[in-house]
Amino acid sequence: MEKGLLIFMGLGGLAFIVWGLPLVLGRKKLVRRGFKGTFLTFDDGPSEVTDQLLDVLQACQCQACFFLLGEEVVKRKETLKRIREEGHGIGLHGYSHKHPLKMTYWEQKKDLERAYQIFKQEGICPNYYRAPHGAYTWASLIFCKRHGLKIVHWTGLVGDWELQEEKILLDRLVKLSGPGHVLVLHDGTKGKANPLCKALVPLLVEDLSRKLATSPAPLEGWTGL
Ligand SMILES: [Zn+2]
Repeated sequence: MEKGLLIFMGLGGLAFIVWGLPLVLGRKKLVRRGFKGTFLTFDDGPSEVTDQLLDVLQACQCQACFFLLGEEVVKRKETLKRIREEGHGIGLHGYSHKHPLKMTYWEQKKDLERAYQIFKQEGICPNYYRAPHGAYTWASLIFCKRHGLKIVHWTGLVGDWELQEEKILLDRLVKLSGPGHVLVLHDGTKGKANPLCKALVPLLVEDLSRKLATSPAPLEGWTGL
């Protein structure tokens, strides 16, 4: 075999180990078997719509999991407490939402530690982790292992941040739902509330809880890494 080809294959293998393998490991076990309902998860909050969302979830007796950003939690500590008190799952989503692949190992470790400490100061230990942009890295996998966080990726990305119409959103949610499926919506968009999430609130009451048969147990028994 030519030397050039060997070097090319070696570099390809190395790139897979450094960047590809943690992505594969983080995203495995997408559909949670043995569950009847669809899991609702909300990323990037808390924001000013999160409390309204919690009211709705309470009214329809649904529970969800919130993947929160450290820099938003410091602005809304009461909302964090409410999420916990009302029995929803709490997941870490990093401190700044900077793309993990644009940070060094040490930068990301620092970002995750900073976020984790904010939860700890409030007496709350997050149980789950979801990477910003779904980009799992060695830094995040090692961090999760050390702190006992289960990785929860999604099976359905609804794209609510780019949609303007509630009906399209609802159709997509219904299409992507299924037993053990995990749908991701956003109650925050980097410090701002997602306007569509506000619109989603009445839909959750009228349609979503019936159509999606949202599980009453938030992620219990999930097996992450
Ligand atoms: Zn996010």
